[in-house]
Amino acid sequence: MTDKPFDDIPSEVVAWVDRLHEVADEVAQPLLTAHAERLRCRAGCSDCCSDGLTVFTIEAALIAKRHPSLLAEGIPHAEGACAFLDDEGRCRIYAERPYVCRTQGLPLRWLDEEEHDGAAEIVESRDICPKNEQGGLPLEELPAEALFTLGPFEQRLAARQSAVDGGEGRRVALRSLFAQAAPRKHLPVL
Ligand code: SF4
Repeated sequence: MTDKPFDDIPSEVVAWVDRLHEVADEVAQPLLTAHAERLRCRAGCSDCCSDGLTVFTIEAALIAKRHPSLLAEGIPHAEGACAFLDDEGRCRIYAERPYVCRTQGLPLRWLDEEEHDGAAEIVESRDICPKNEQGGLPLEELPAEALFTLGPFEQRLAARQSAVDGGEGRRVALRSLFAQAAPRKHLPVL
């Protein structure tokens, strides 16, 4: 019997997630360098750190393993932004932040299959933080290799999660990792 849905994630899976994060950083690094002129991402900018983010339990297990004191005793950031932000807008789990946080700010692209006139068609979408739009070629003119392609890392994470939980794809809210995330009960004033 465990208290949290990530308590029983095997240590080799946690190590695999850690390595996946490293590889994602390695893929992102040349893009960070190439787009240095346009990227306004700095410590203290938390525009992409929205509340309500969820992660697979295998990513939650890595955070739990490295930050036991923070989760047990820390106070989550007020609702309206990610629970892991501190008062200066910095991430308190930066080294172990989830995969989804590691590509934010970069020019992003992803592919979807759509049906047109009865035929399947691959359609590309692109996005970038509004703060990073200026300072380089317009997003639509960038060559595909100048953008981070979403999809492959997500698929690998989902497959590993599925192997752990029998295909359930269990996710948890980042805010729920804090012991103090539950609404406090107010005792009656006597
Ligand atoms: S985990 Fe860190 S980087 Fe990710 S949304 Fe929360 S504060 Fe931002």
